[in-house]
Amino acid sequence: MNGYPDSLNGLIEQLKKLPGIGRKTAARLAFHMVRMPDSDAGKLAEAILDVKKRLVLCSFCQNLTERDPCAICQDPHREAHQLCVVEYPADAASIENSGAFRGRYFVLHGNLAPLQGLGPEDLRLEKLKDLVVQQRISEVVIATNPTVEGNATALLLSKILKPLGVRLSRPACGLPVGADLEYMDPVTIRKSLDGRGPL
Ligand SMILES: [Zn+2]
Repeated sequence: MNGYPDSLNGLIEQLKKLPGIGRKTAARLAFHMVRMPDSDAGKLAEAILDVKKRLVLCSFCQNLTERDPCAICQDPHREAHQLCVVEYPADAASIENSGAFRGRYFVLHGNLAPLQGLGPEDLRLEKLKDLVVQQRISEVVIATNPTVEGNATALLLSKILKPLGVRLSRPACGLPVGADLEYMDPVTIRKSLDGRGPL
């Protein structure tokens, strides 16, 4: 219908399923792949199959790993009684890269997003509760994103975790480093003033 060969249309259709990729970008990526050397195209296809084959979820923290339990859950030098709950594996990786947290993680693999059909039953909350009890976690940092969904998720988590007697905290929200006040949205400015510290 669009004049492309079937195989090219097939590739475009698959690429369109990726997050943030519309028809135009999918077509651009597909044309790029057509021009790729065979060896690079093979490596790309192989890399996709490889992660699908080798990655599993850590049975403790639910993060992606090639070995269960994952390296962080196995590390005896981590703060064993501190847990940081995040929405996605990429969030755990960002916090890990900051070096600011030395405890362990728990990955929800989502947030409360009723509009997208995501409810509490999609968030592995039983596994989180088991982990907190079994590992005698004393402090939980709820690091879901400061979005409507992330805040709703944080509220739900606090309701579930409070009865277990753990200390709960939420990272402060504020101005990003290097930000220009002129271009900040009012909510961010308000939150950063609410959480202001002494000079
Ligand atoms: Zn783990």
